[in-house]
Amino acid sequence: MKKTVLITGASRGIGSAISIKFAKEGYDMCIISKSGGENMDKMVSILSGYGVKVYPYTCDVSDNAAVSACIDDAREKLGTISYVINNAGISYTGLLQDMSYDVFDLIIRTNLYSVFNTTSKLIPDMISKKEGSIVNISSIWGSRGASCEVAYCASKSGLDGYTRALAKELAPSNIRVNAVAPGVIDTDMNSHLSPEELAALTEEIPAGRLGTPKDIADVVFDIATNHPYMTGQVITVDGGFNA
Ligand code: NDP
Repeated sequence: MKKTVLITGASRGIGSAISIKFAKEGYDMCIISKSGGENMDKMVSILSGYGVKVYPYTCDVSDNAAVSACIDDAREKLGTISYVINNAGISYTGLLQDMSYDVFDLIIRTNLYSVFNTTSKLIPDMISKKEGSIVNISSIWGSRGASCEVAYCASKSGLDGYTRALAKELAPSNIRVNAVAPGVIDTDMNSHLSPEELAALTEEIPAGRLGTPKDIADVVFDIATNHPYMTGQVITVDGGFNA
């Protein structure tokens, strides 16, 4: 397969580590973030340092028209995009009874509709070439459920179902669709937790530490690029937390 990849949420955290892993392995890429700016400039400089082509886009992945325009442009520059990593996501902590419709809508659109926006646009190319690999970044909370994270859990649970169903639809076309469900990873997404809360969470993790973005990136790359008979799977990477 052509070594080209689209990665969403690449400016920070897990998406940044996934982008670095693909760049190290020689993949040209289109990377997306919501706000662009210094973080993305820094990423372009790091990734280009590995000698690959990097095209950055500032695009809200929940916006179907914006994603479509971004992918049209990326395809002109990169040609076929063989690998898709749907990583962009947001979380929200609070009681459901205090959540507005708009916040619920924002979380579902950002974490779930976004994956429809990228994949529905890229699949026709993959089907005509009879090759492709998609990895969605889910969460252990999608299968486990977490109090005060109802919208987030619903979005990730939906993503797990999306992954399994699309895998069945696309397997006859030699396209694989899998998901990785991280546990607690040390990124900005958990920066709202106090040191005490982080210590309590760490105590619950048999591996005795939070995961790093690289822990996830290494598994994502492996699942995306290897294992031709593996599809429709949601792989947990959580230091034993959800075992
Ligand atoms: P971060 O908050 O560190 O980074 C989020 C990334 O997503 C940023 O690049 C951000 O761009 C981008 N993003 C957010 N909203 C949009 C949007 N509407 N359009 C485009 N890009 C957007 O998150 P993590 O790295 O921690 O999380 C990455 C993924 O992993 C998420 O899907 C998350 O749910 C999942 N995950 C994370 C866990 C954790 O413990 N950290 C655990 C389980 C799953 P910008 O910089 O412009 O805001």
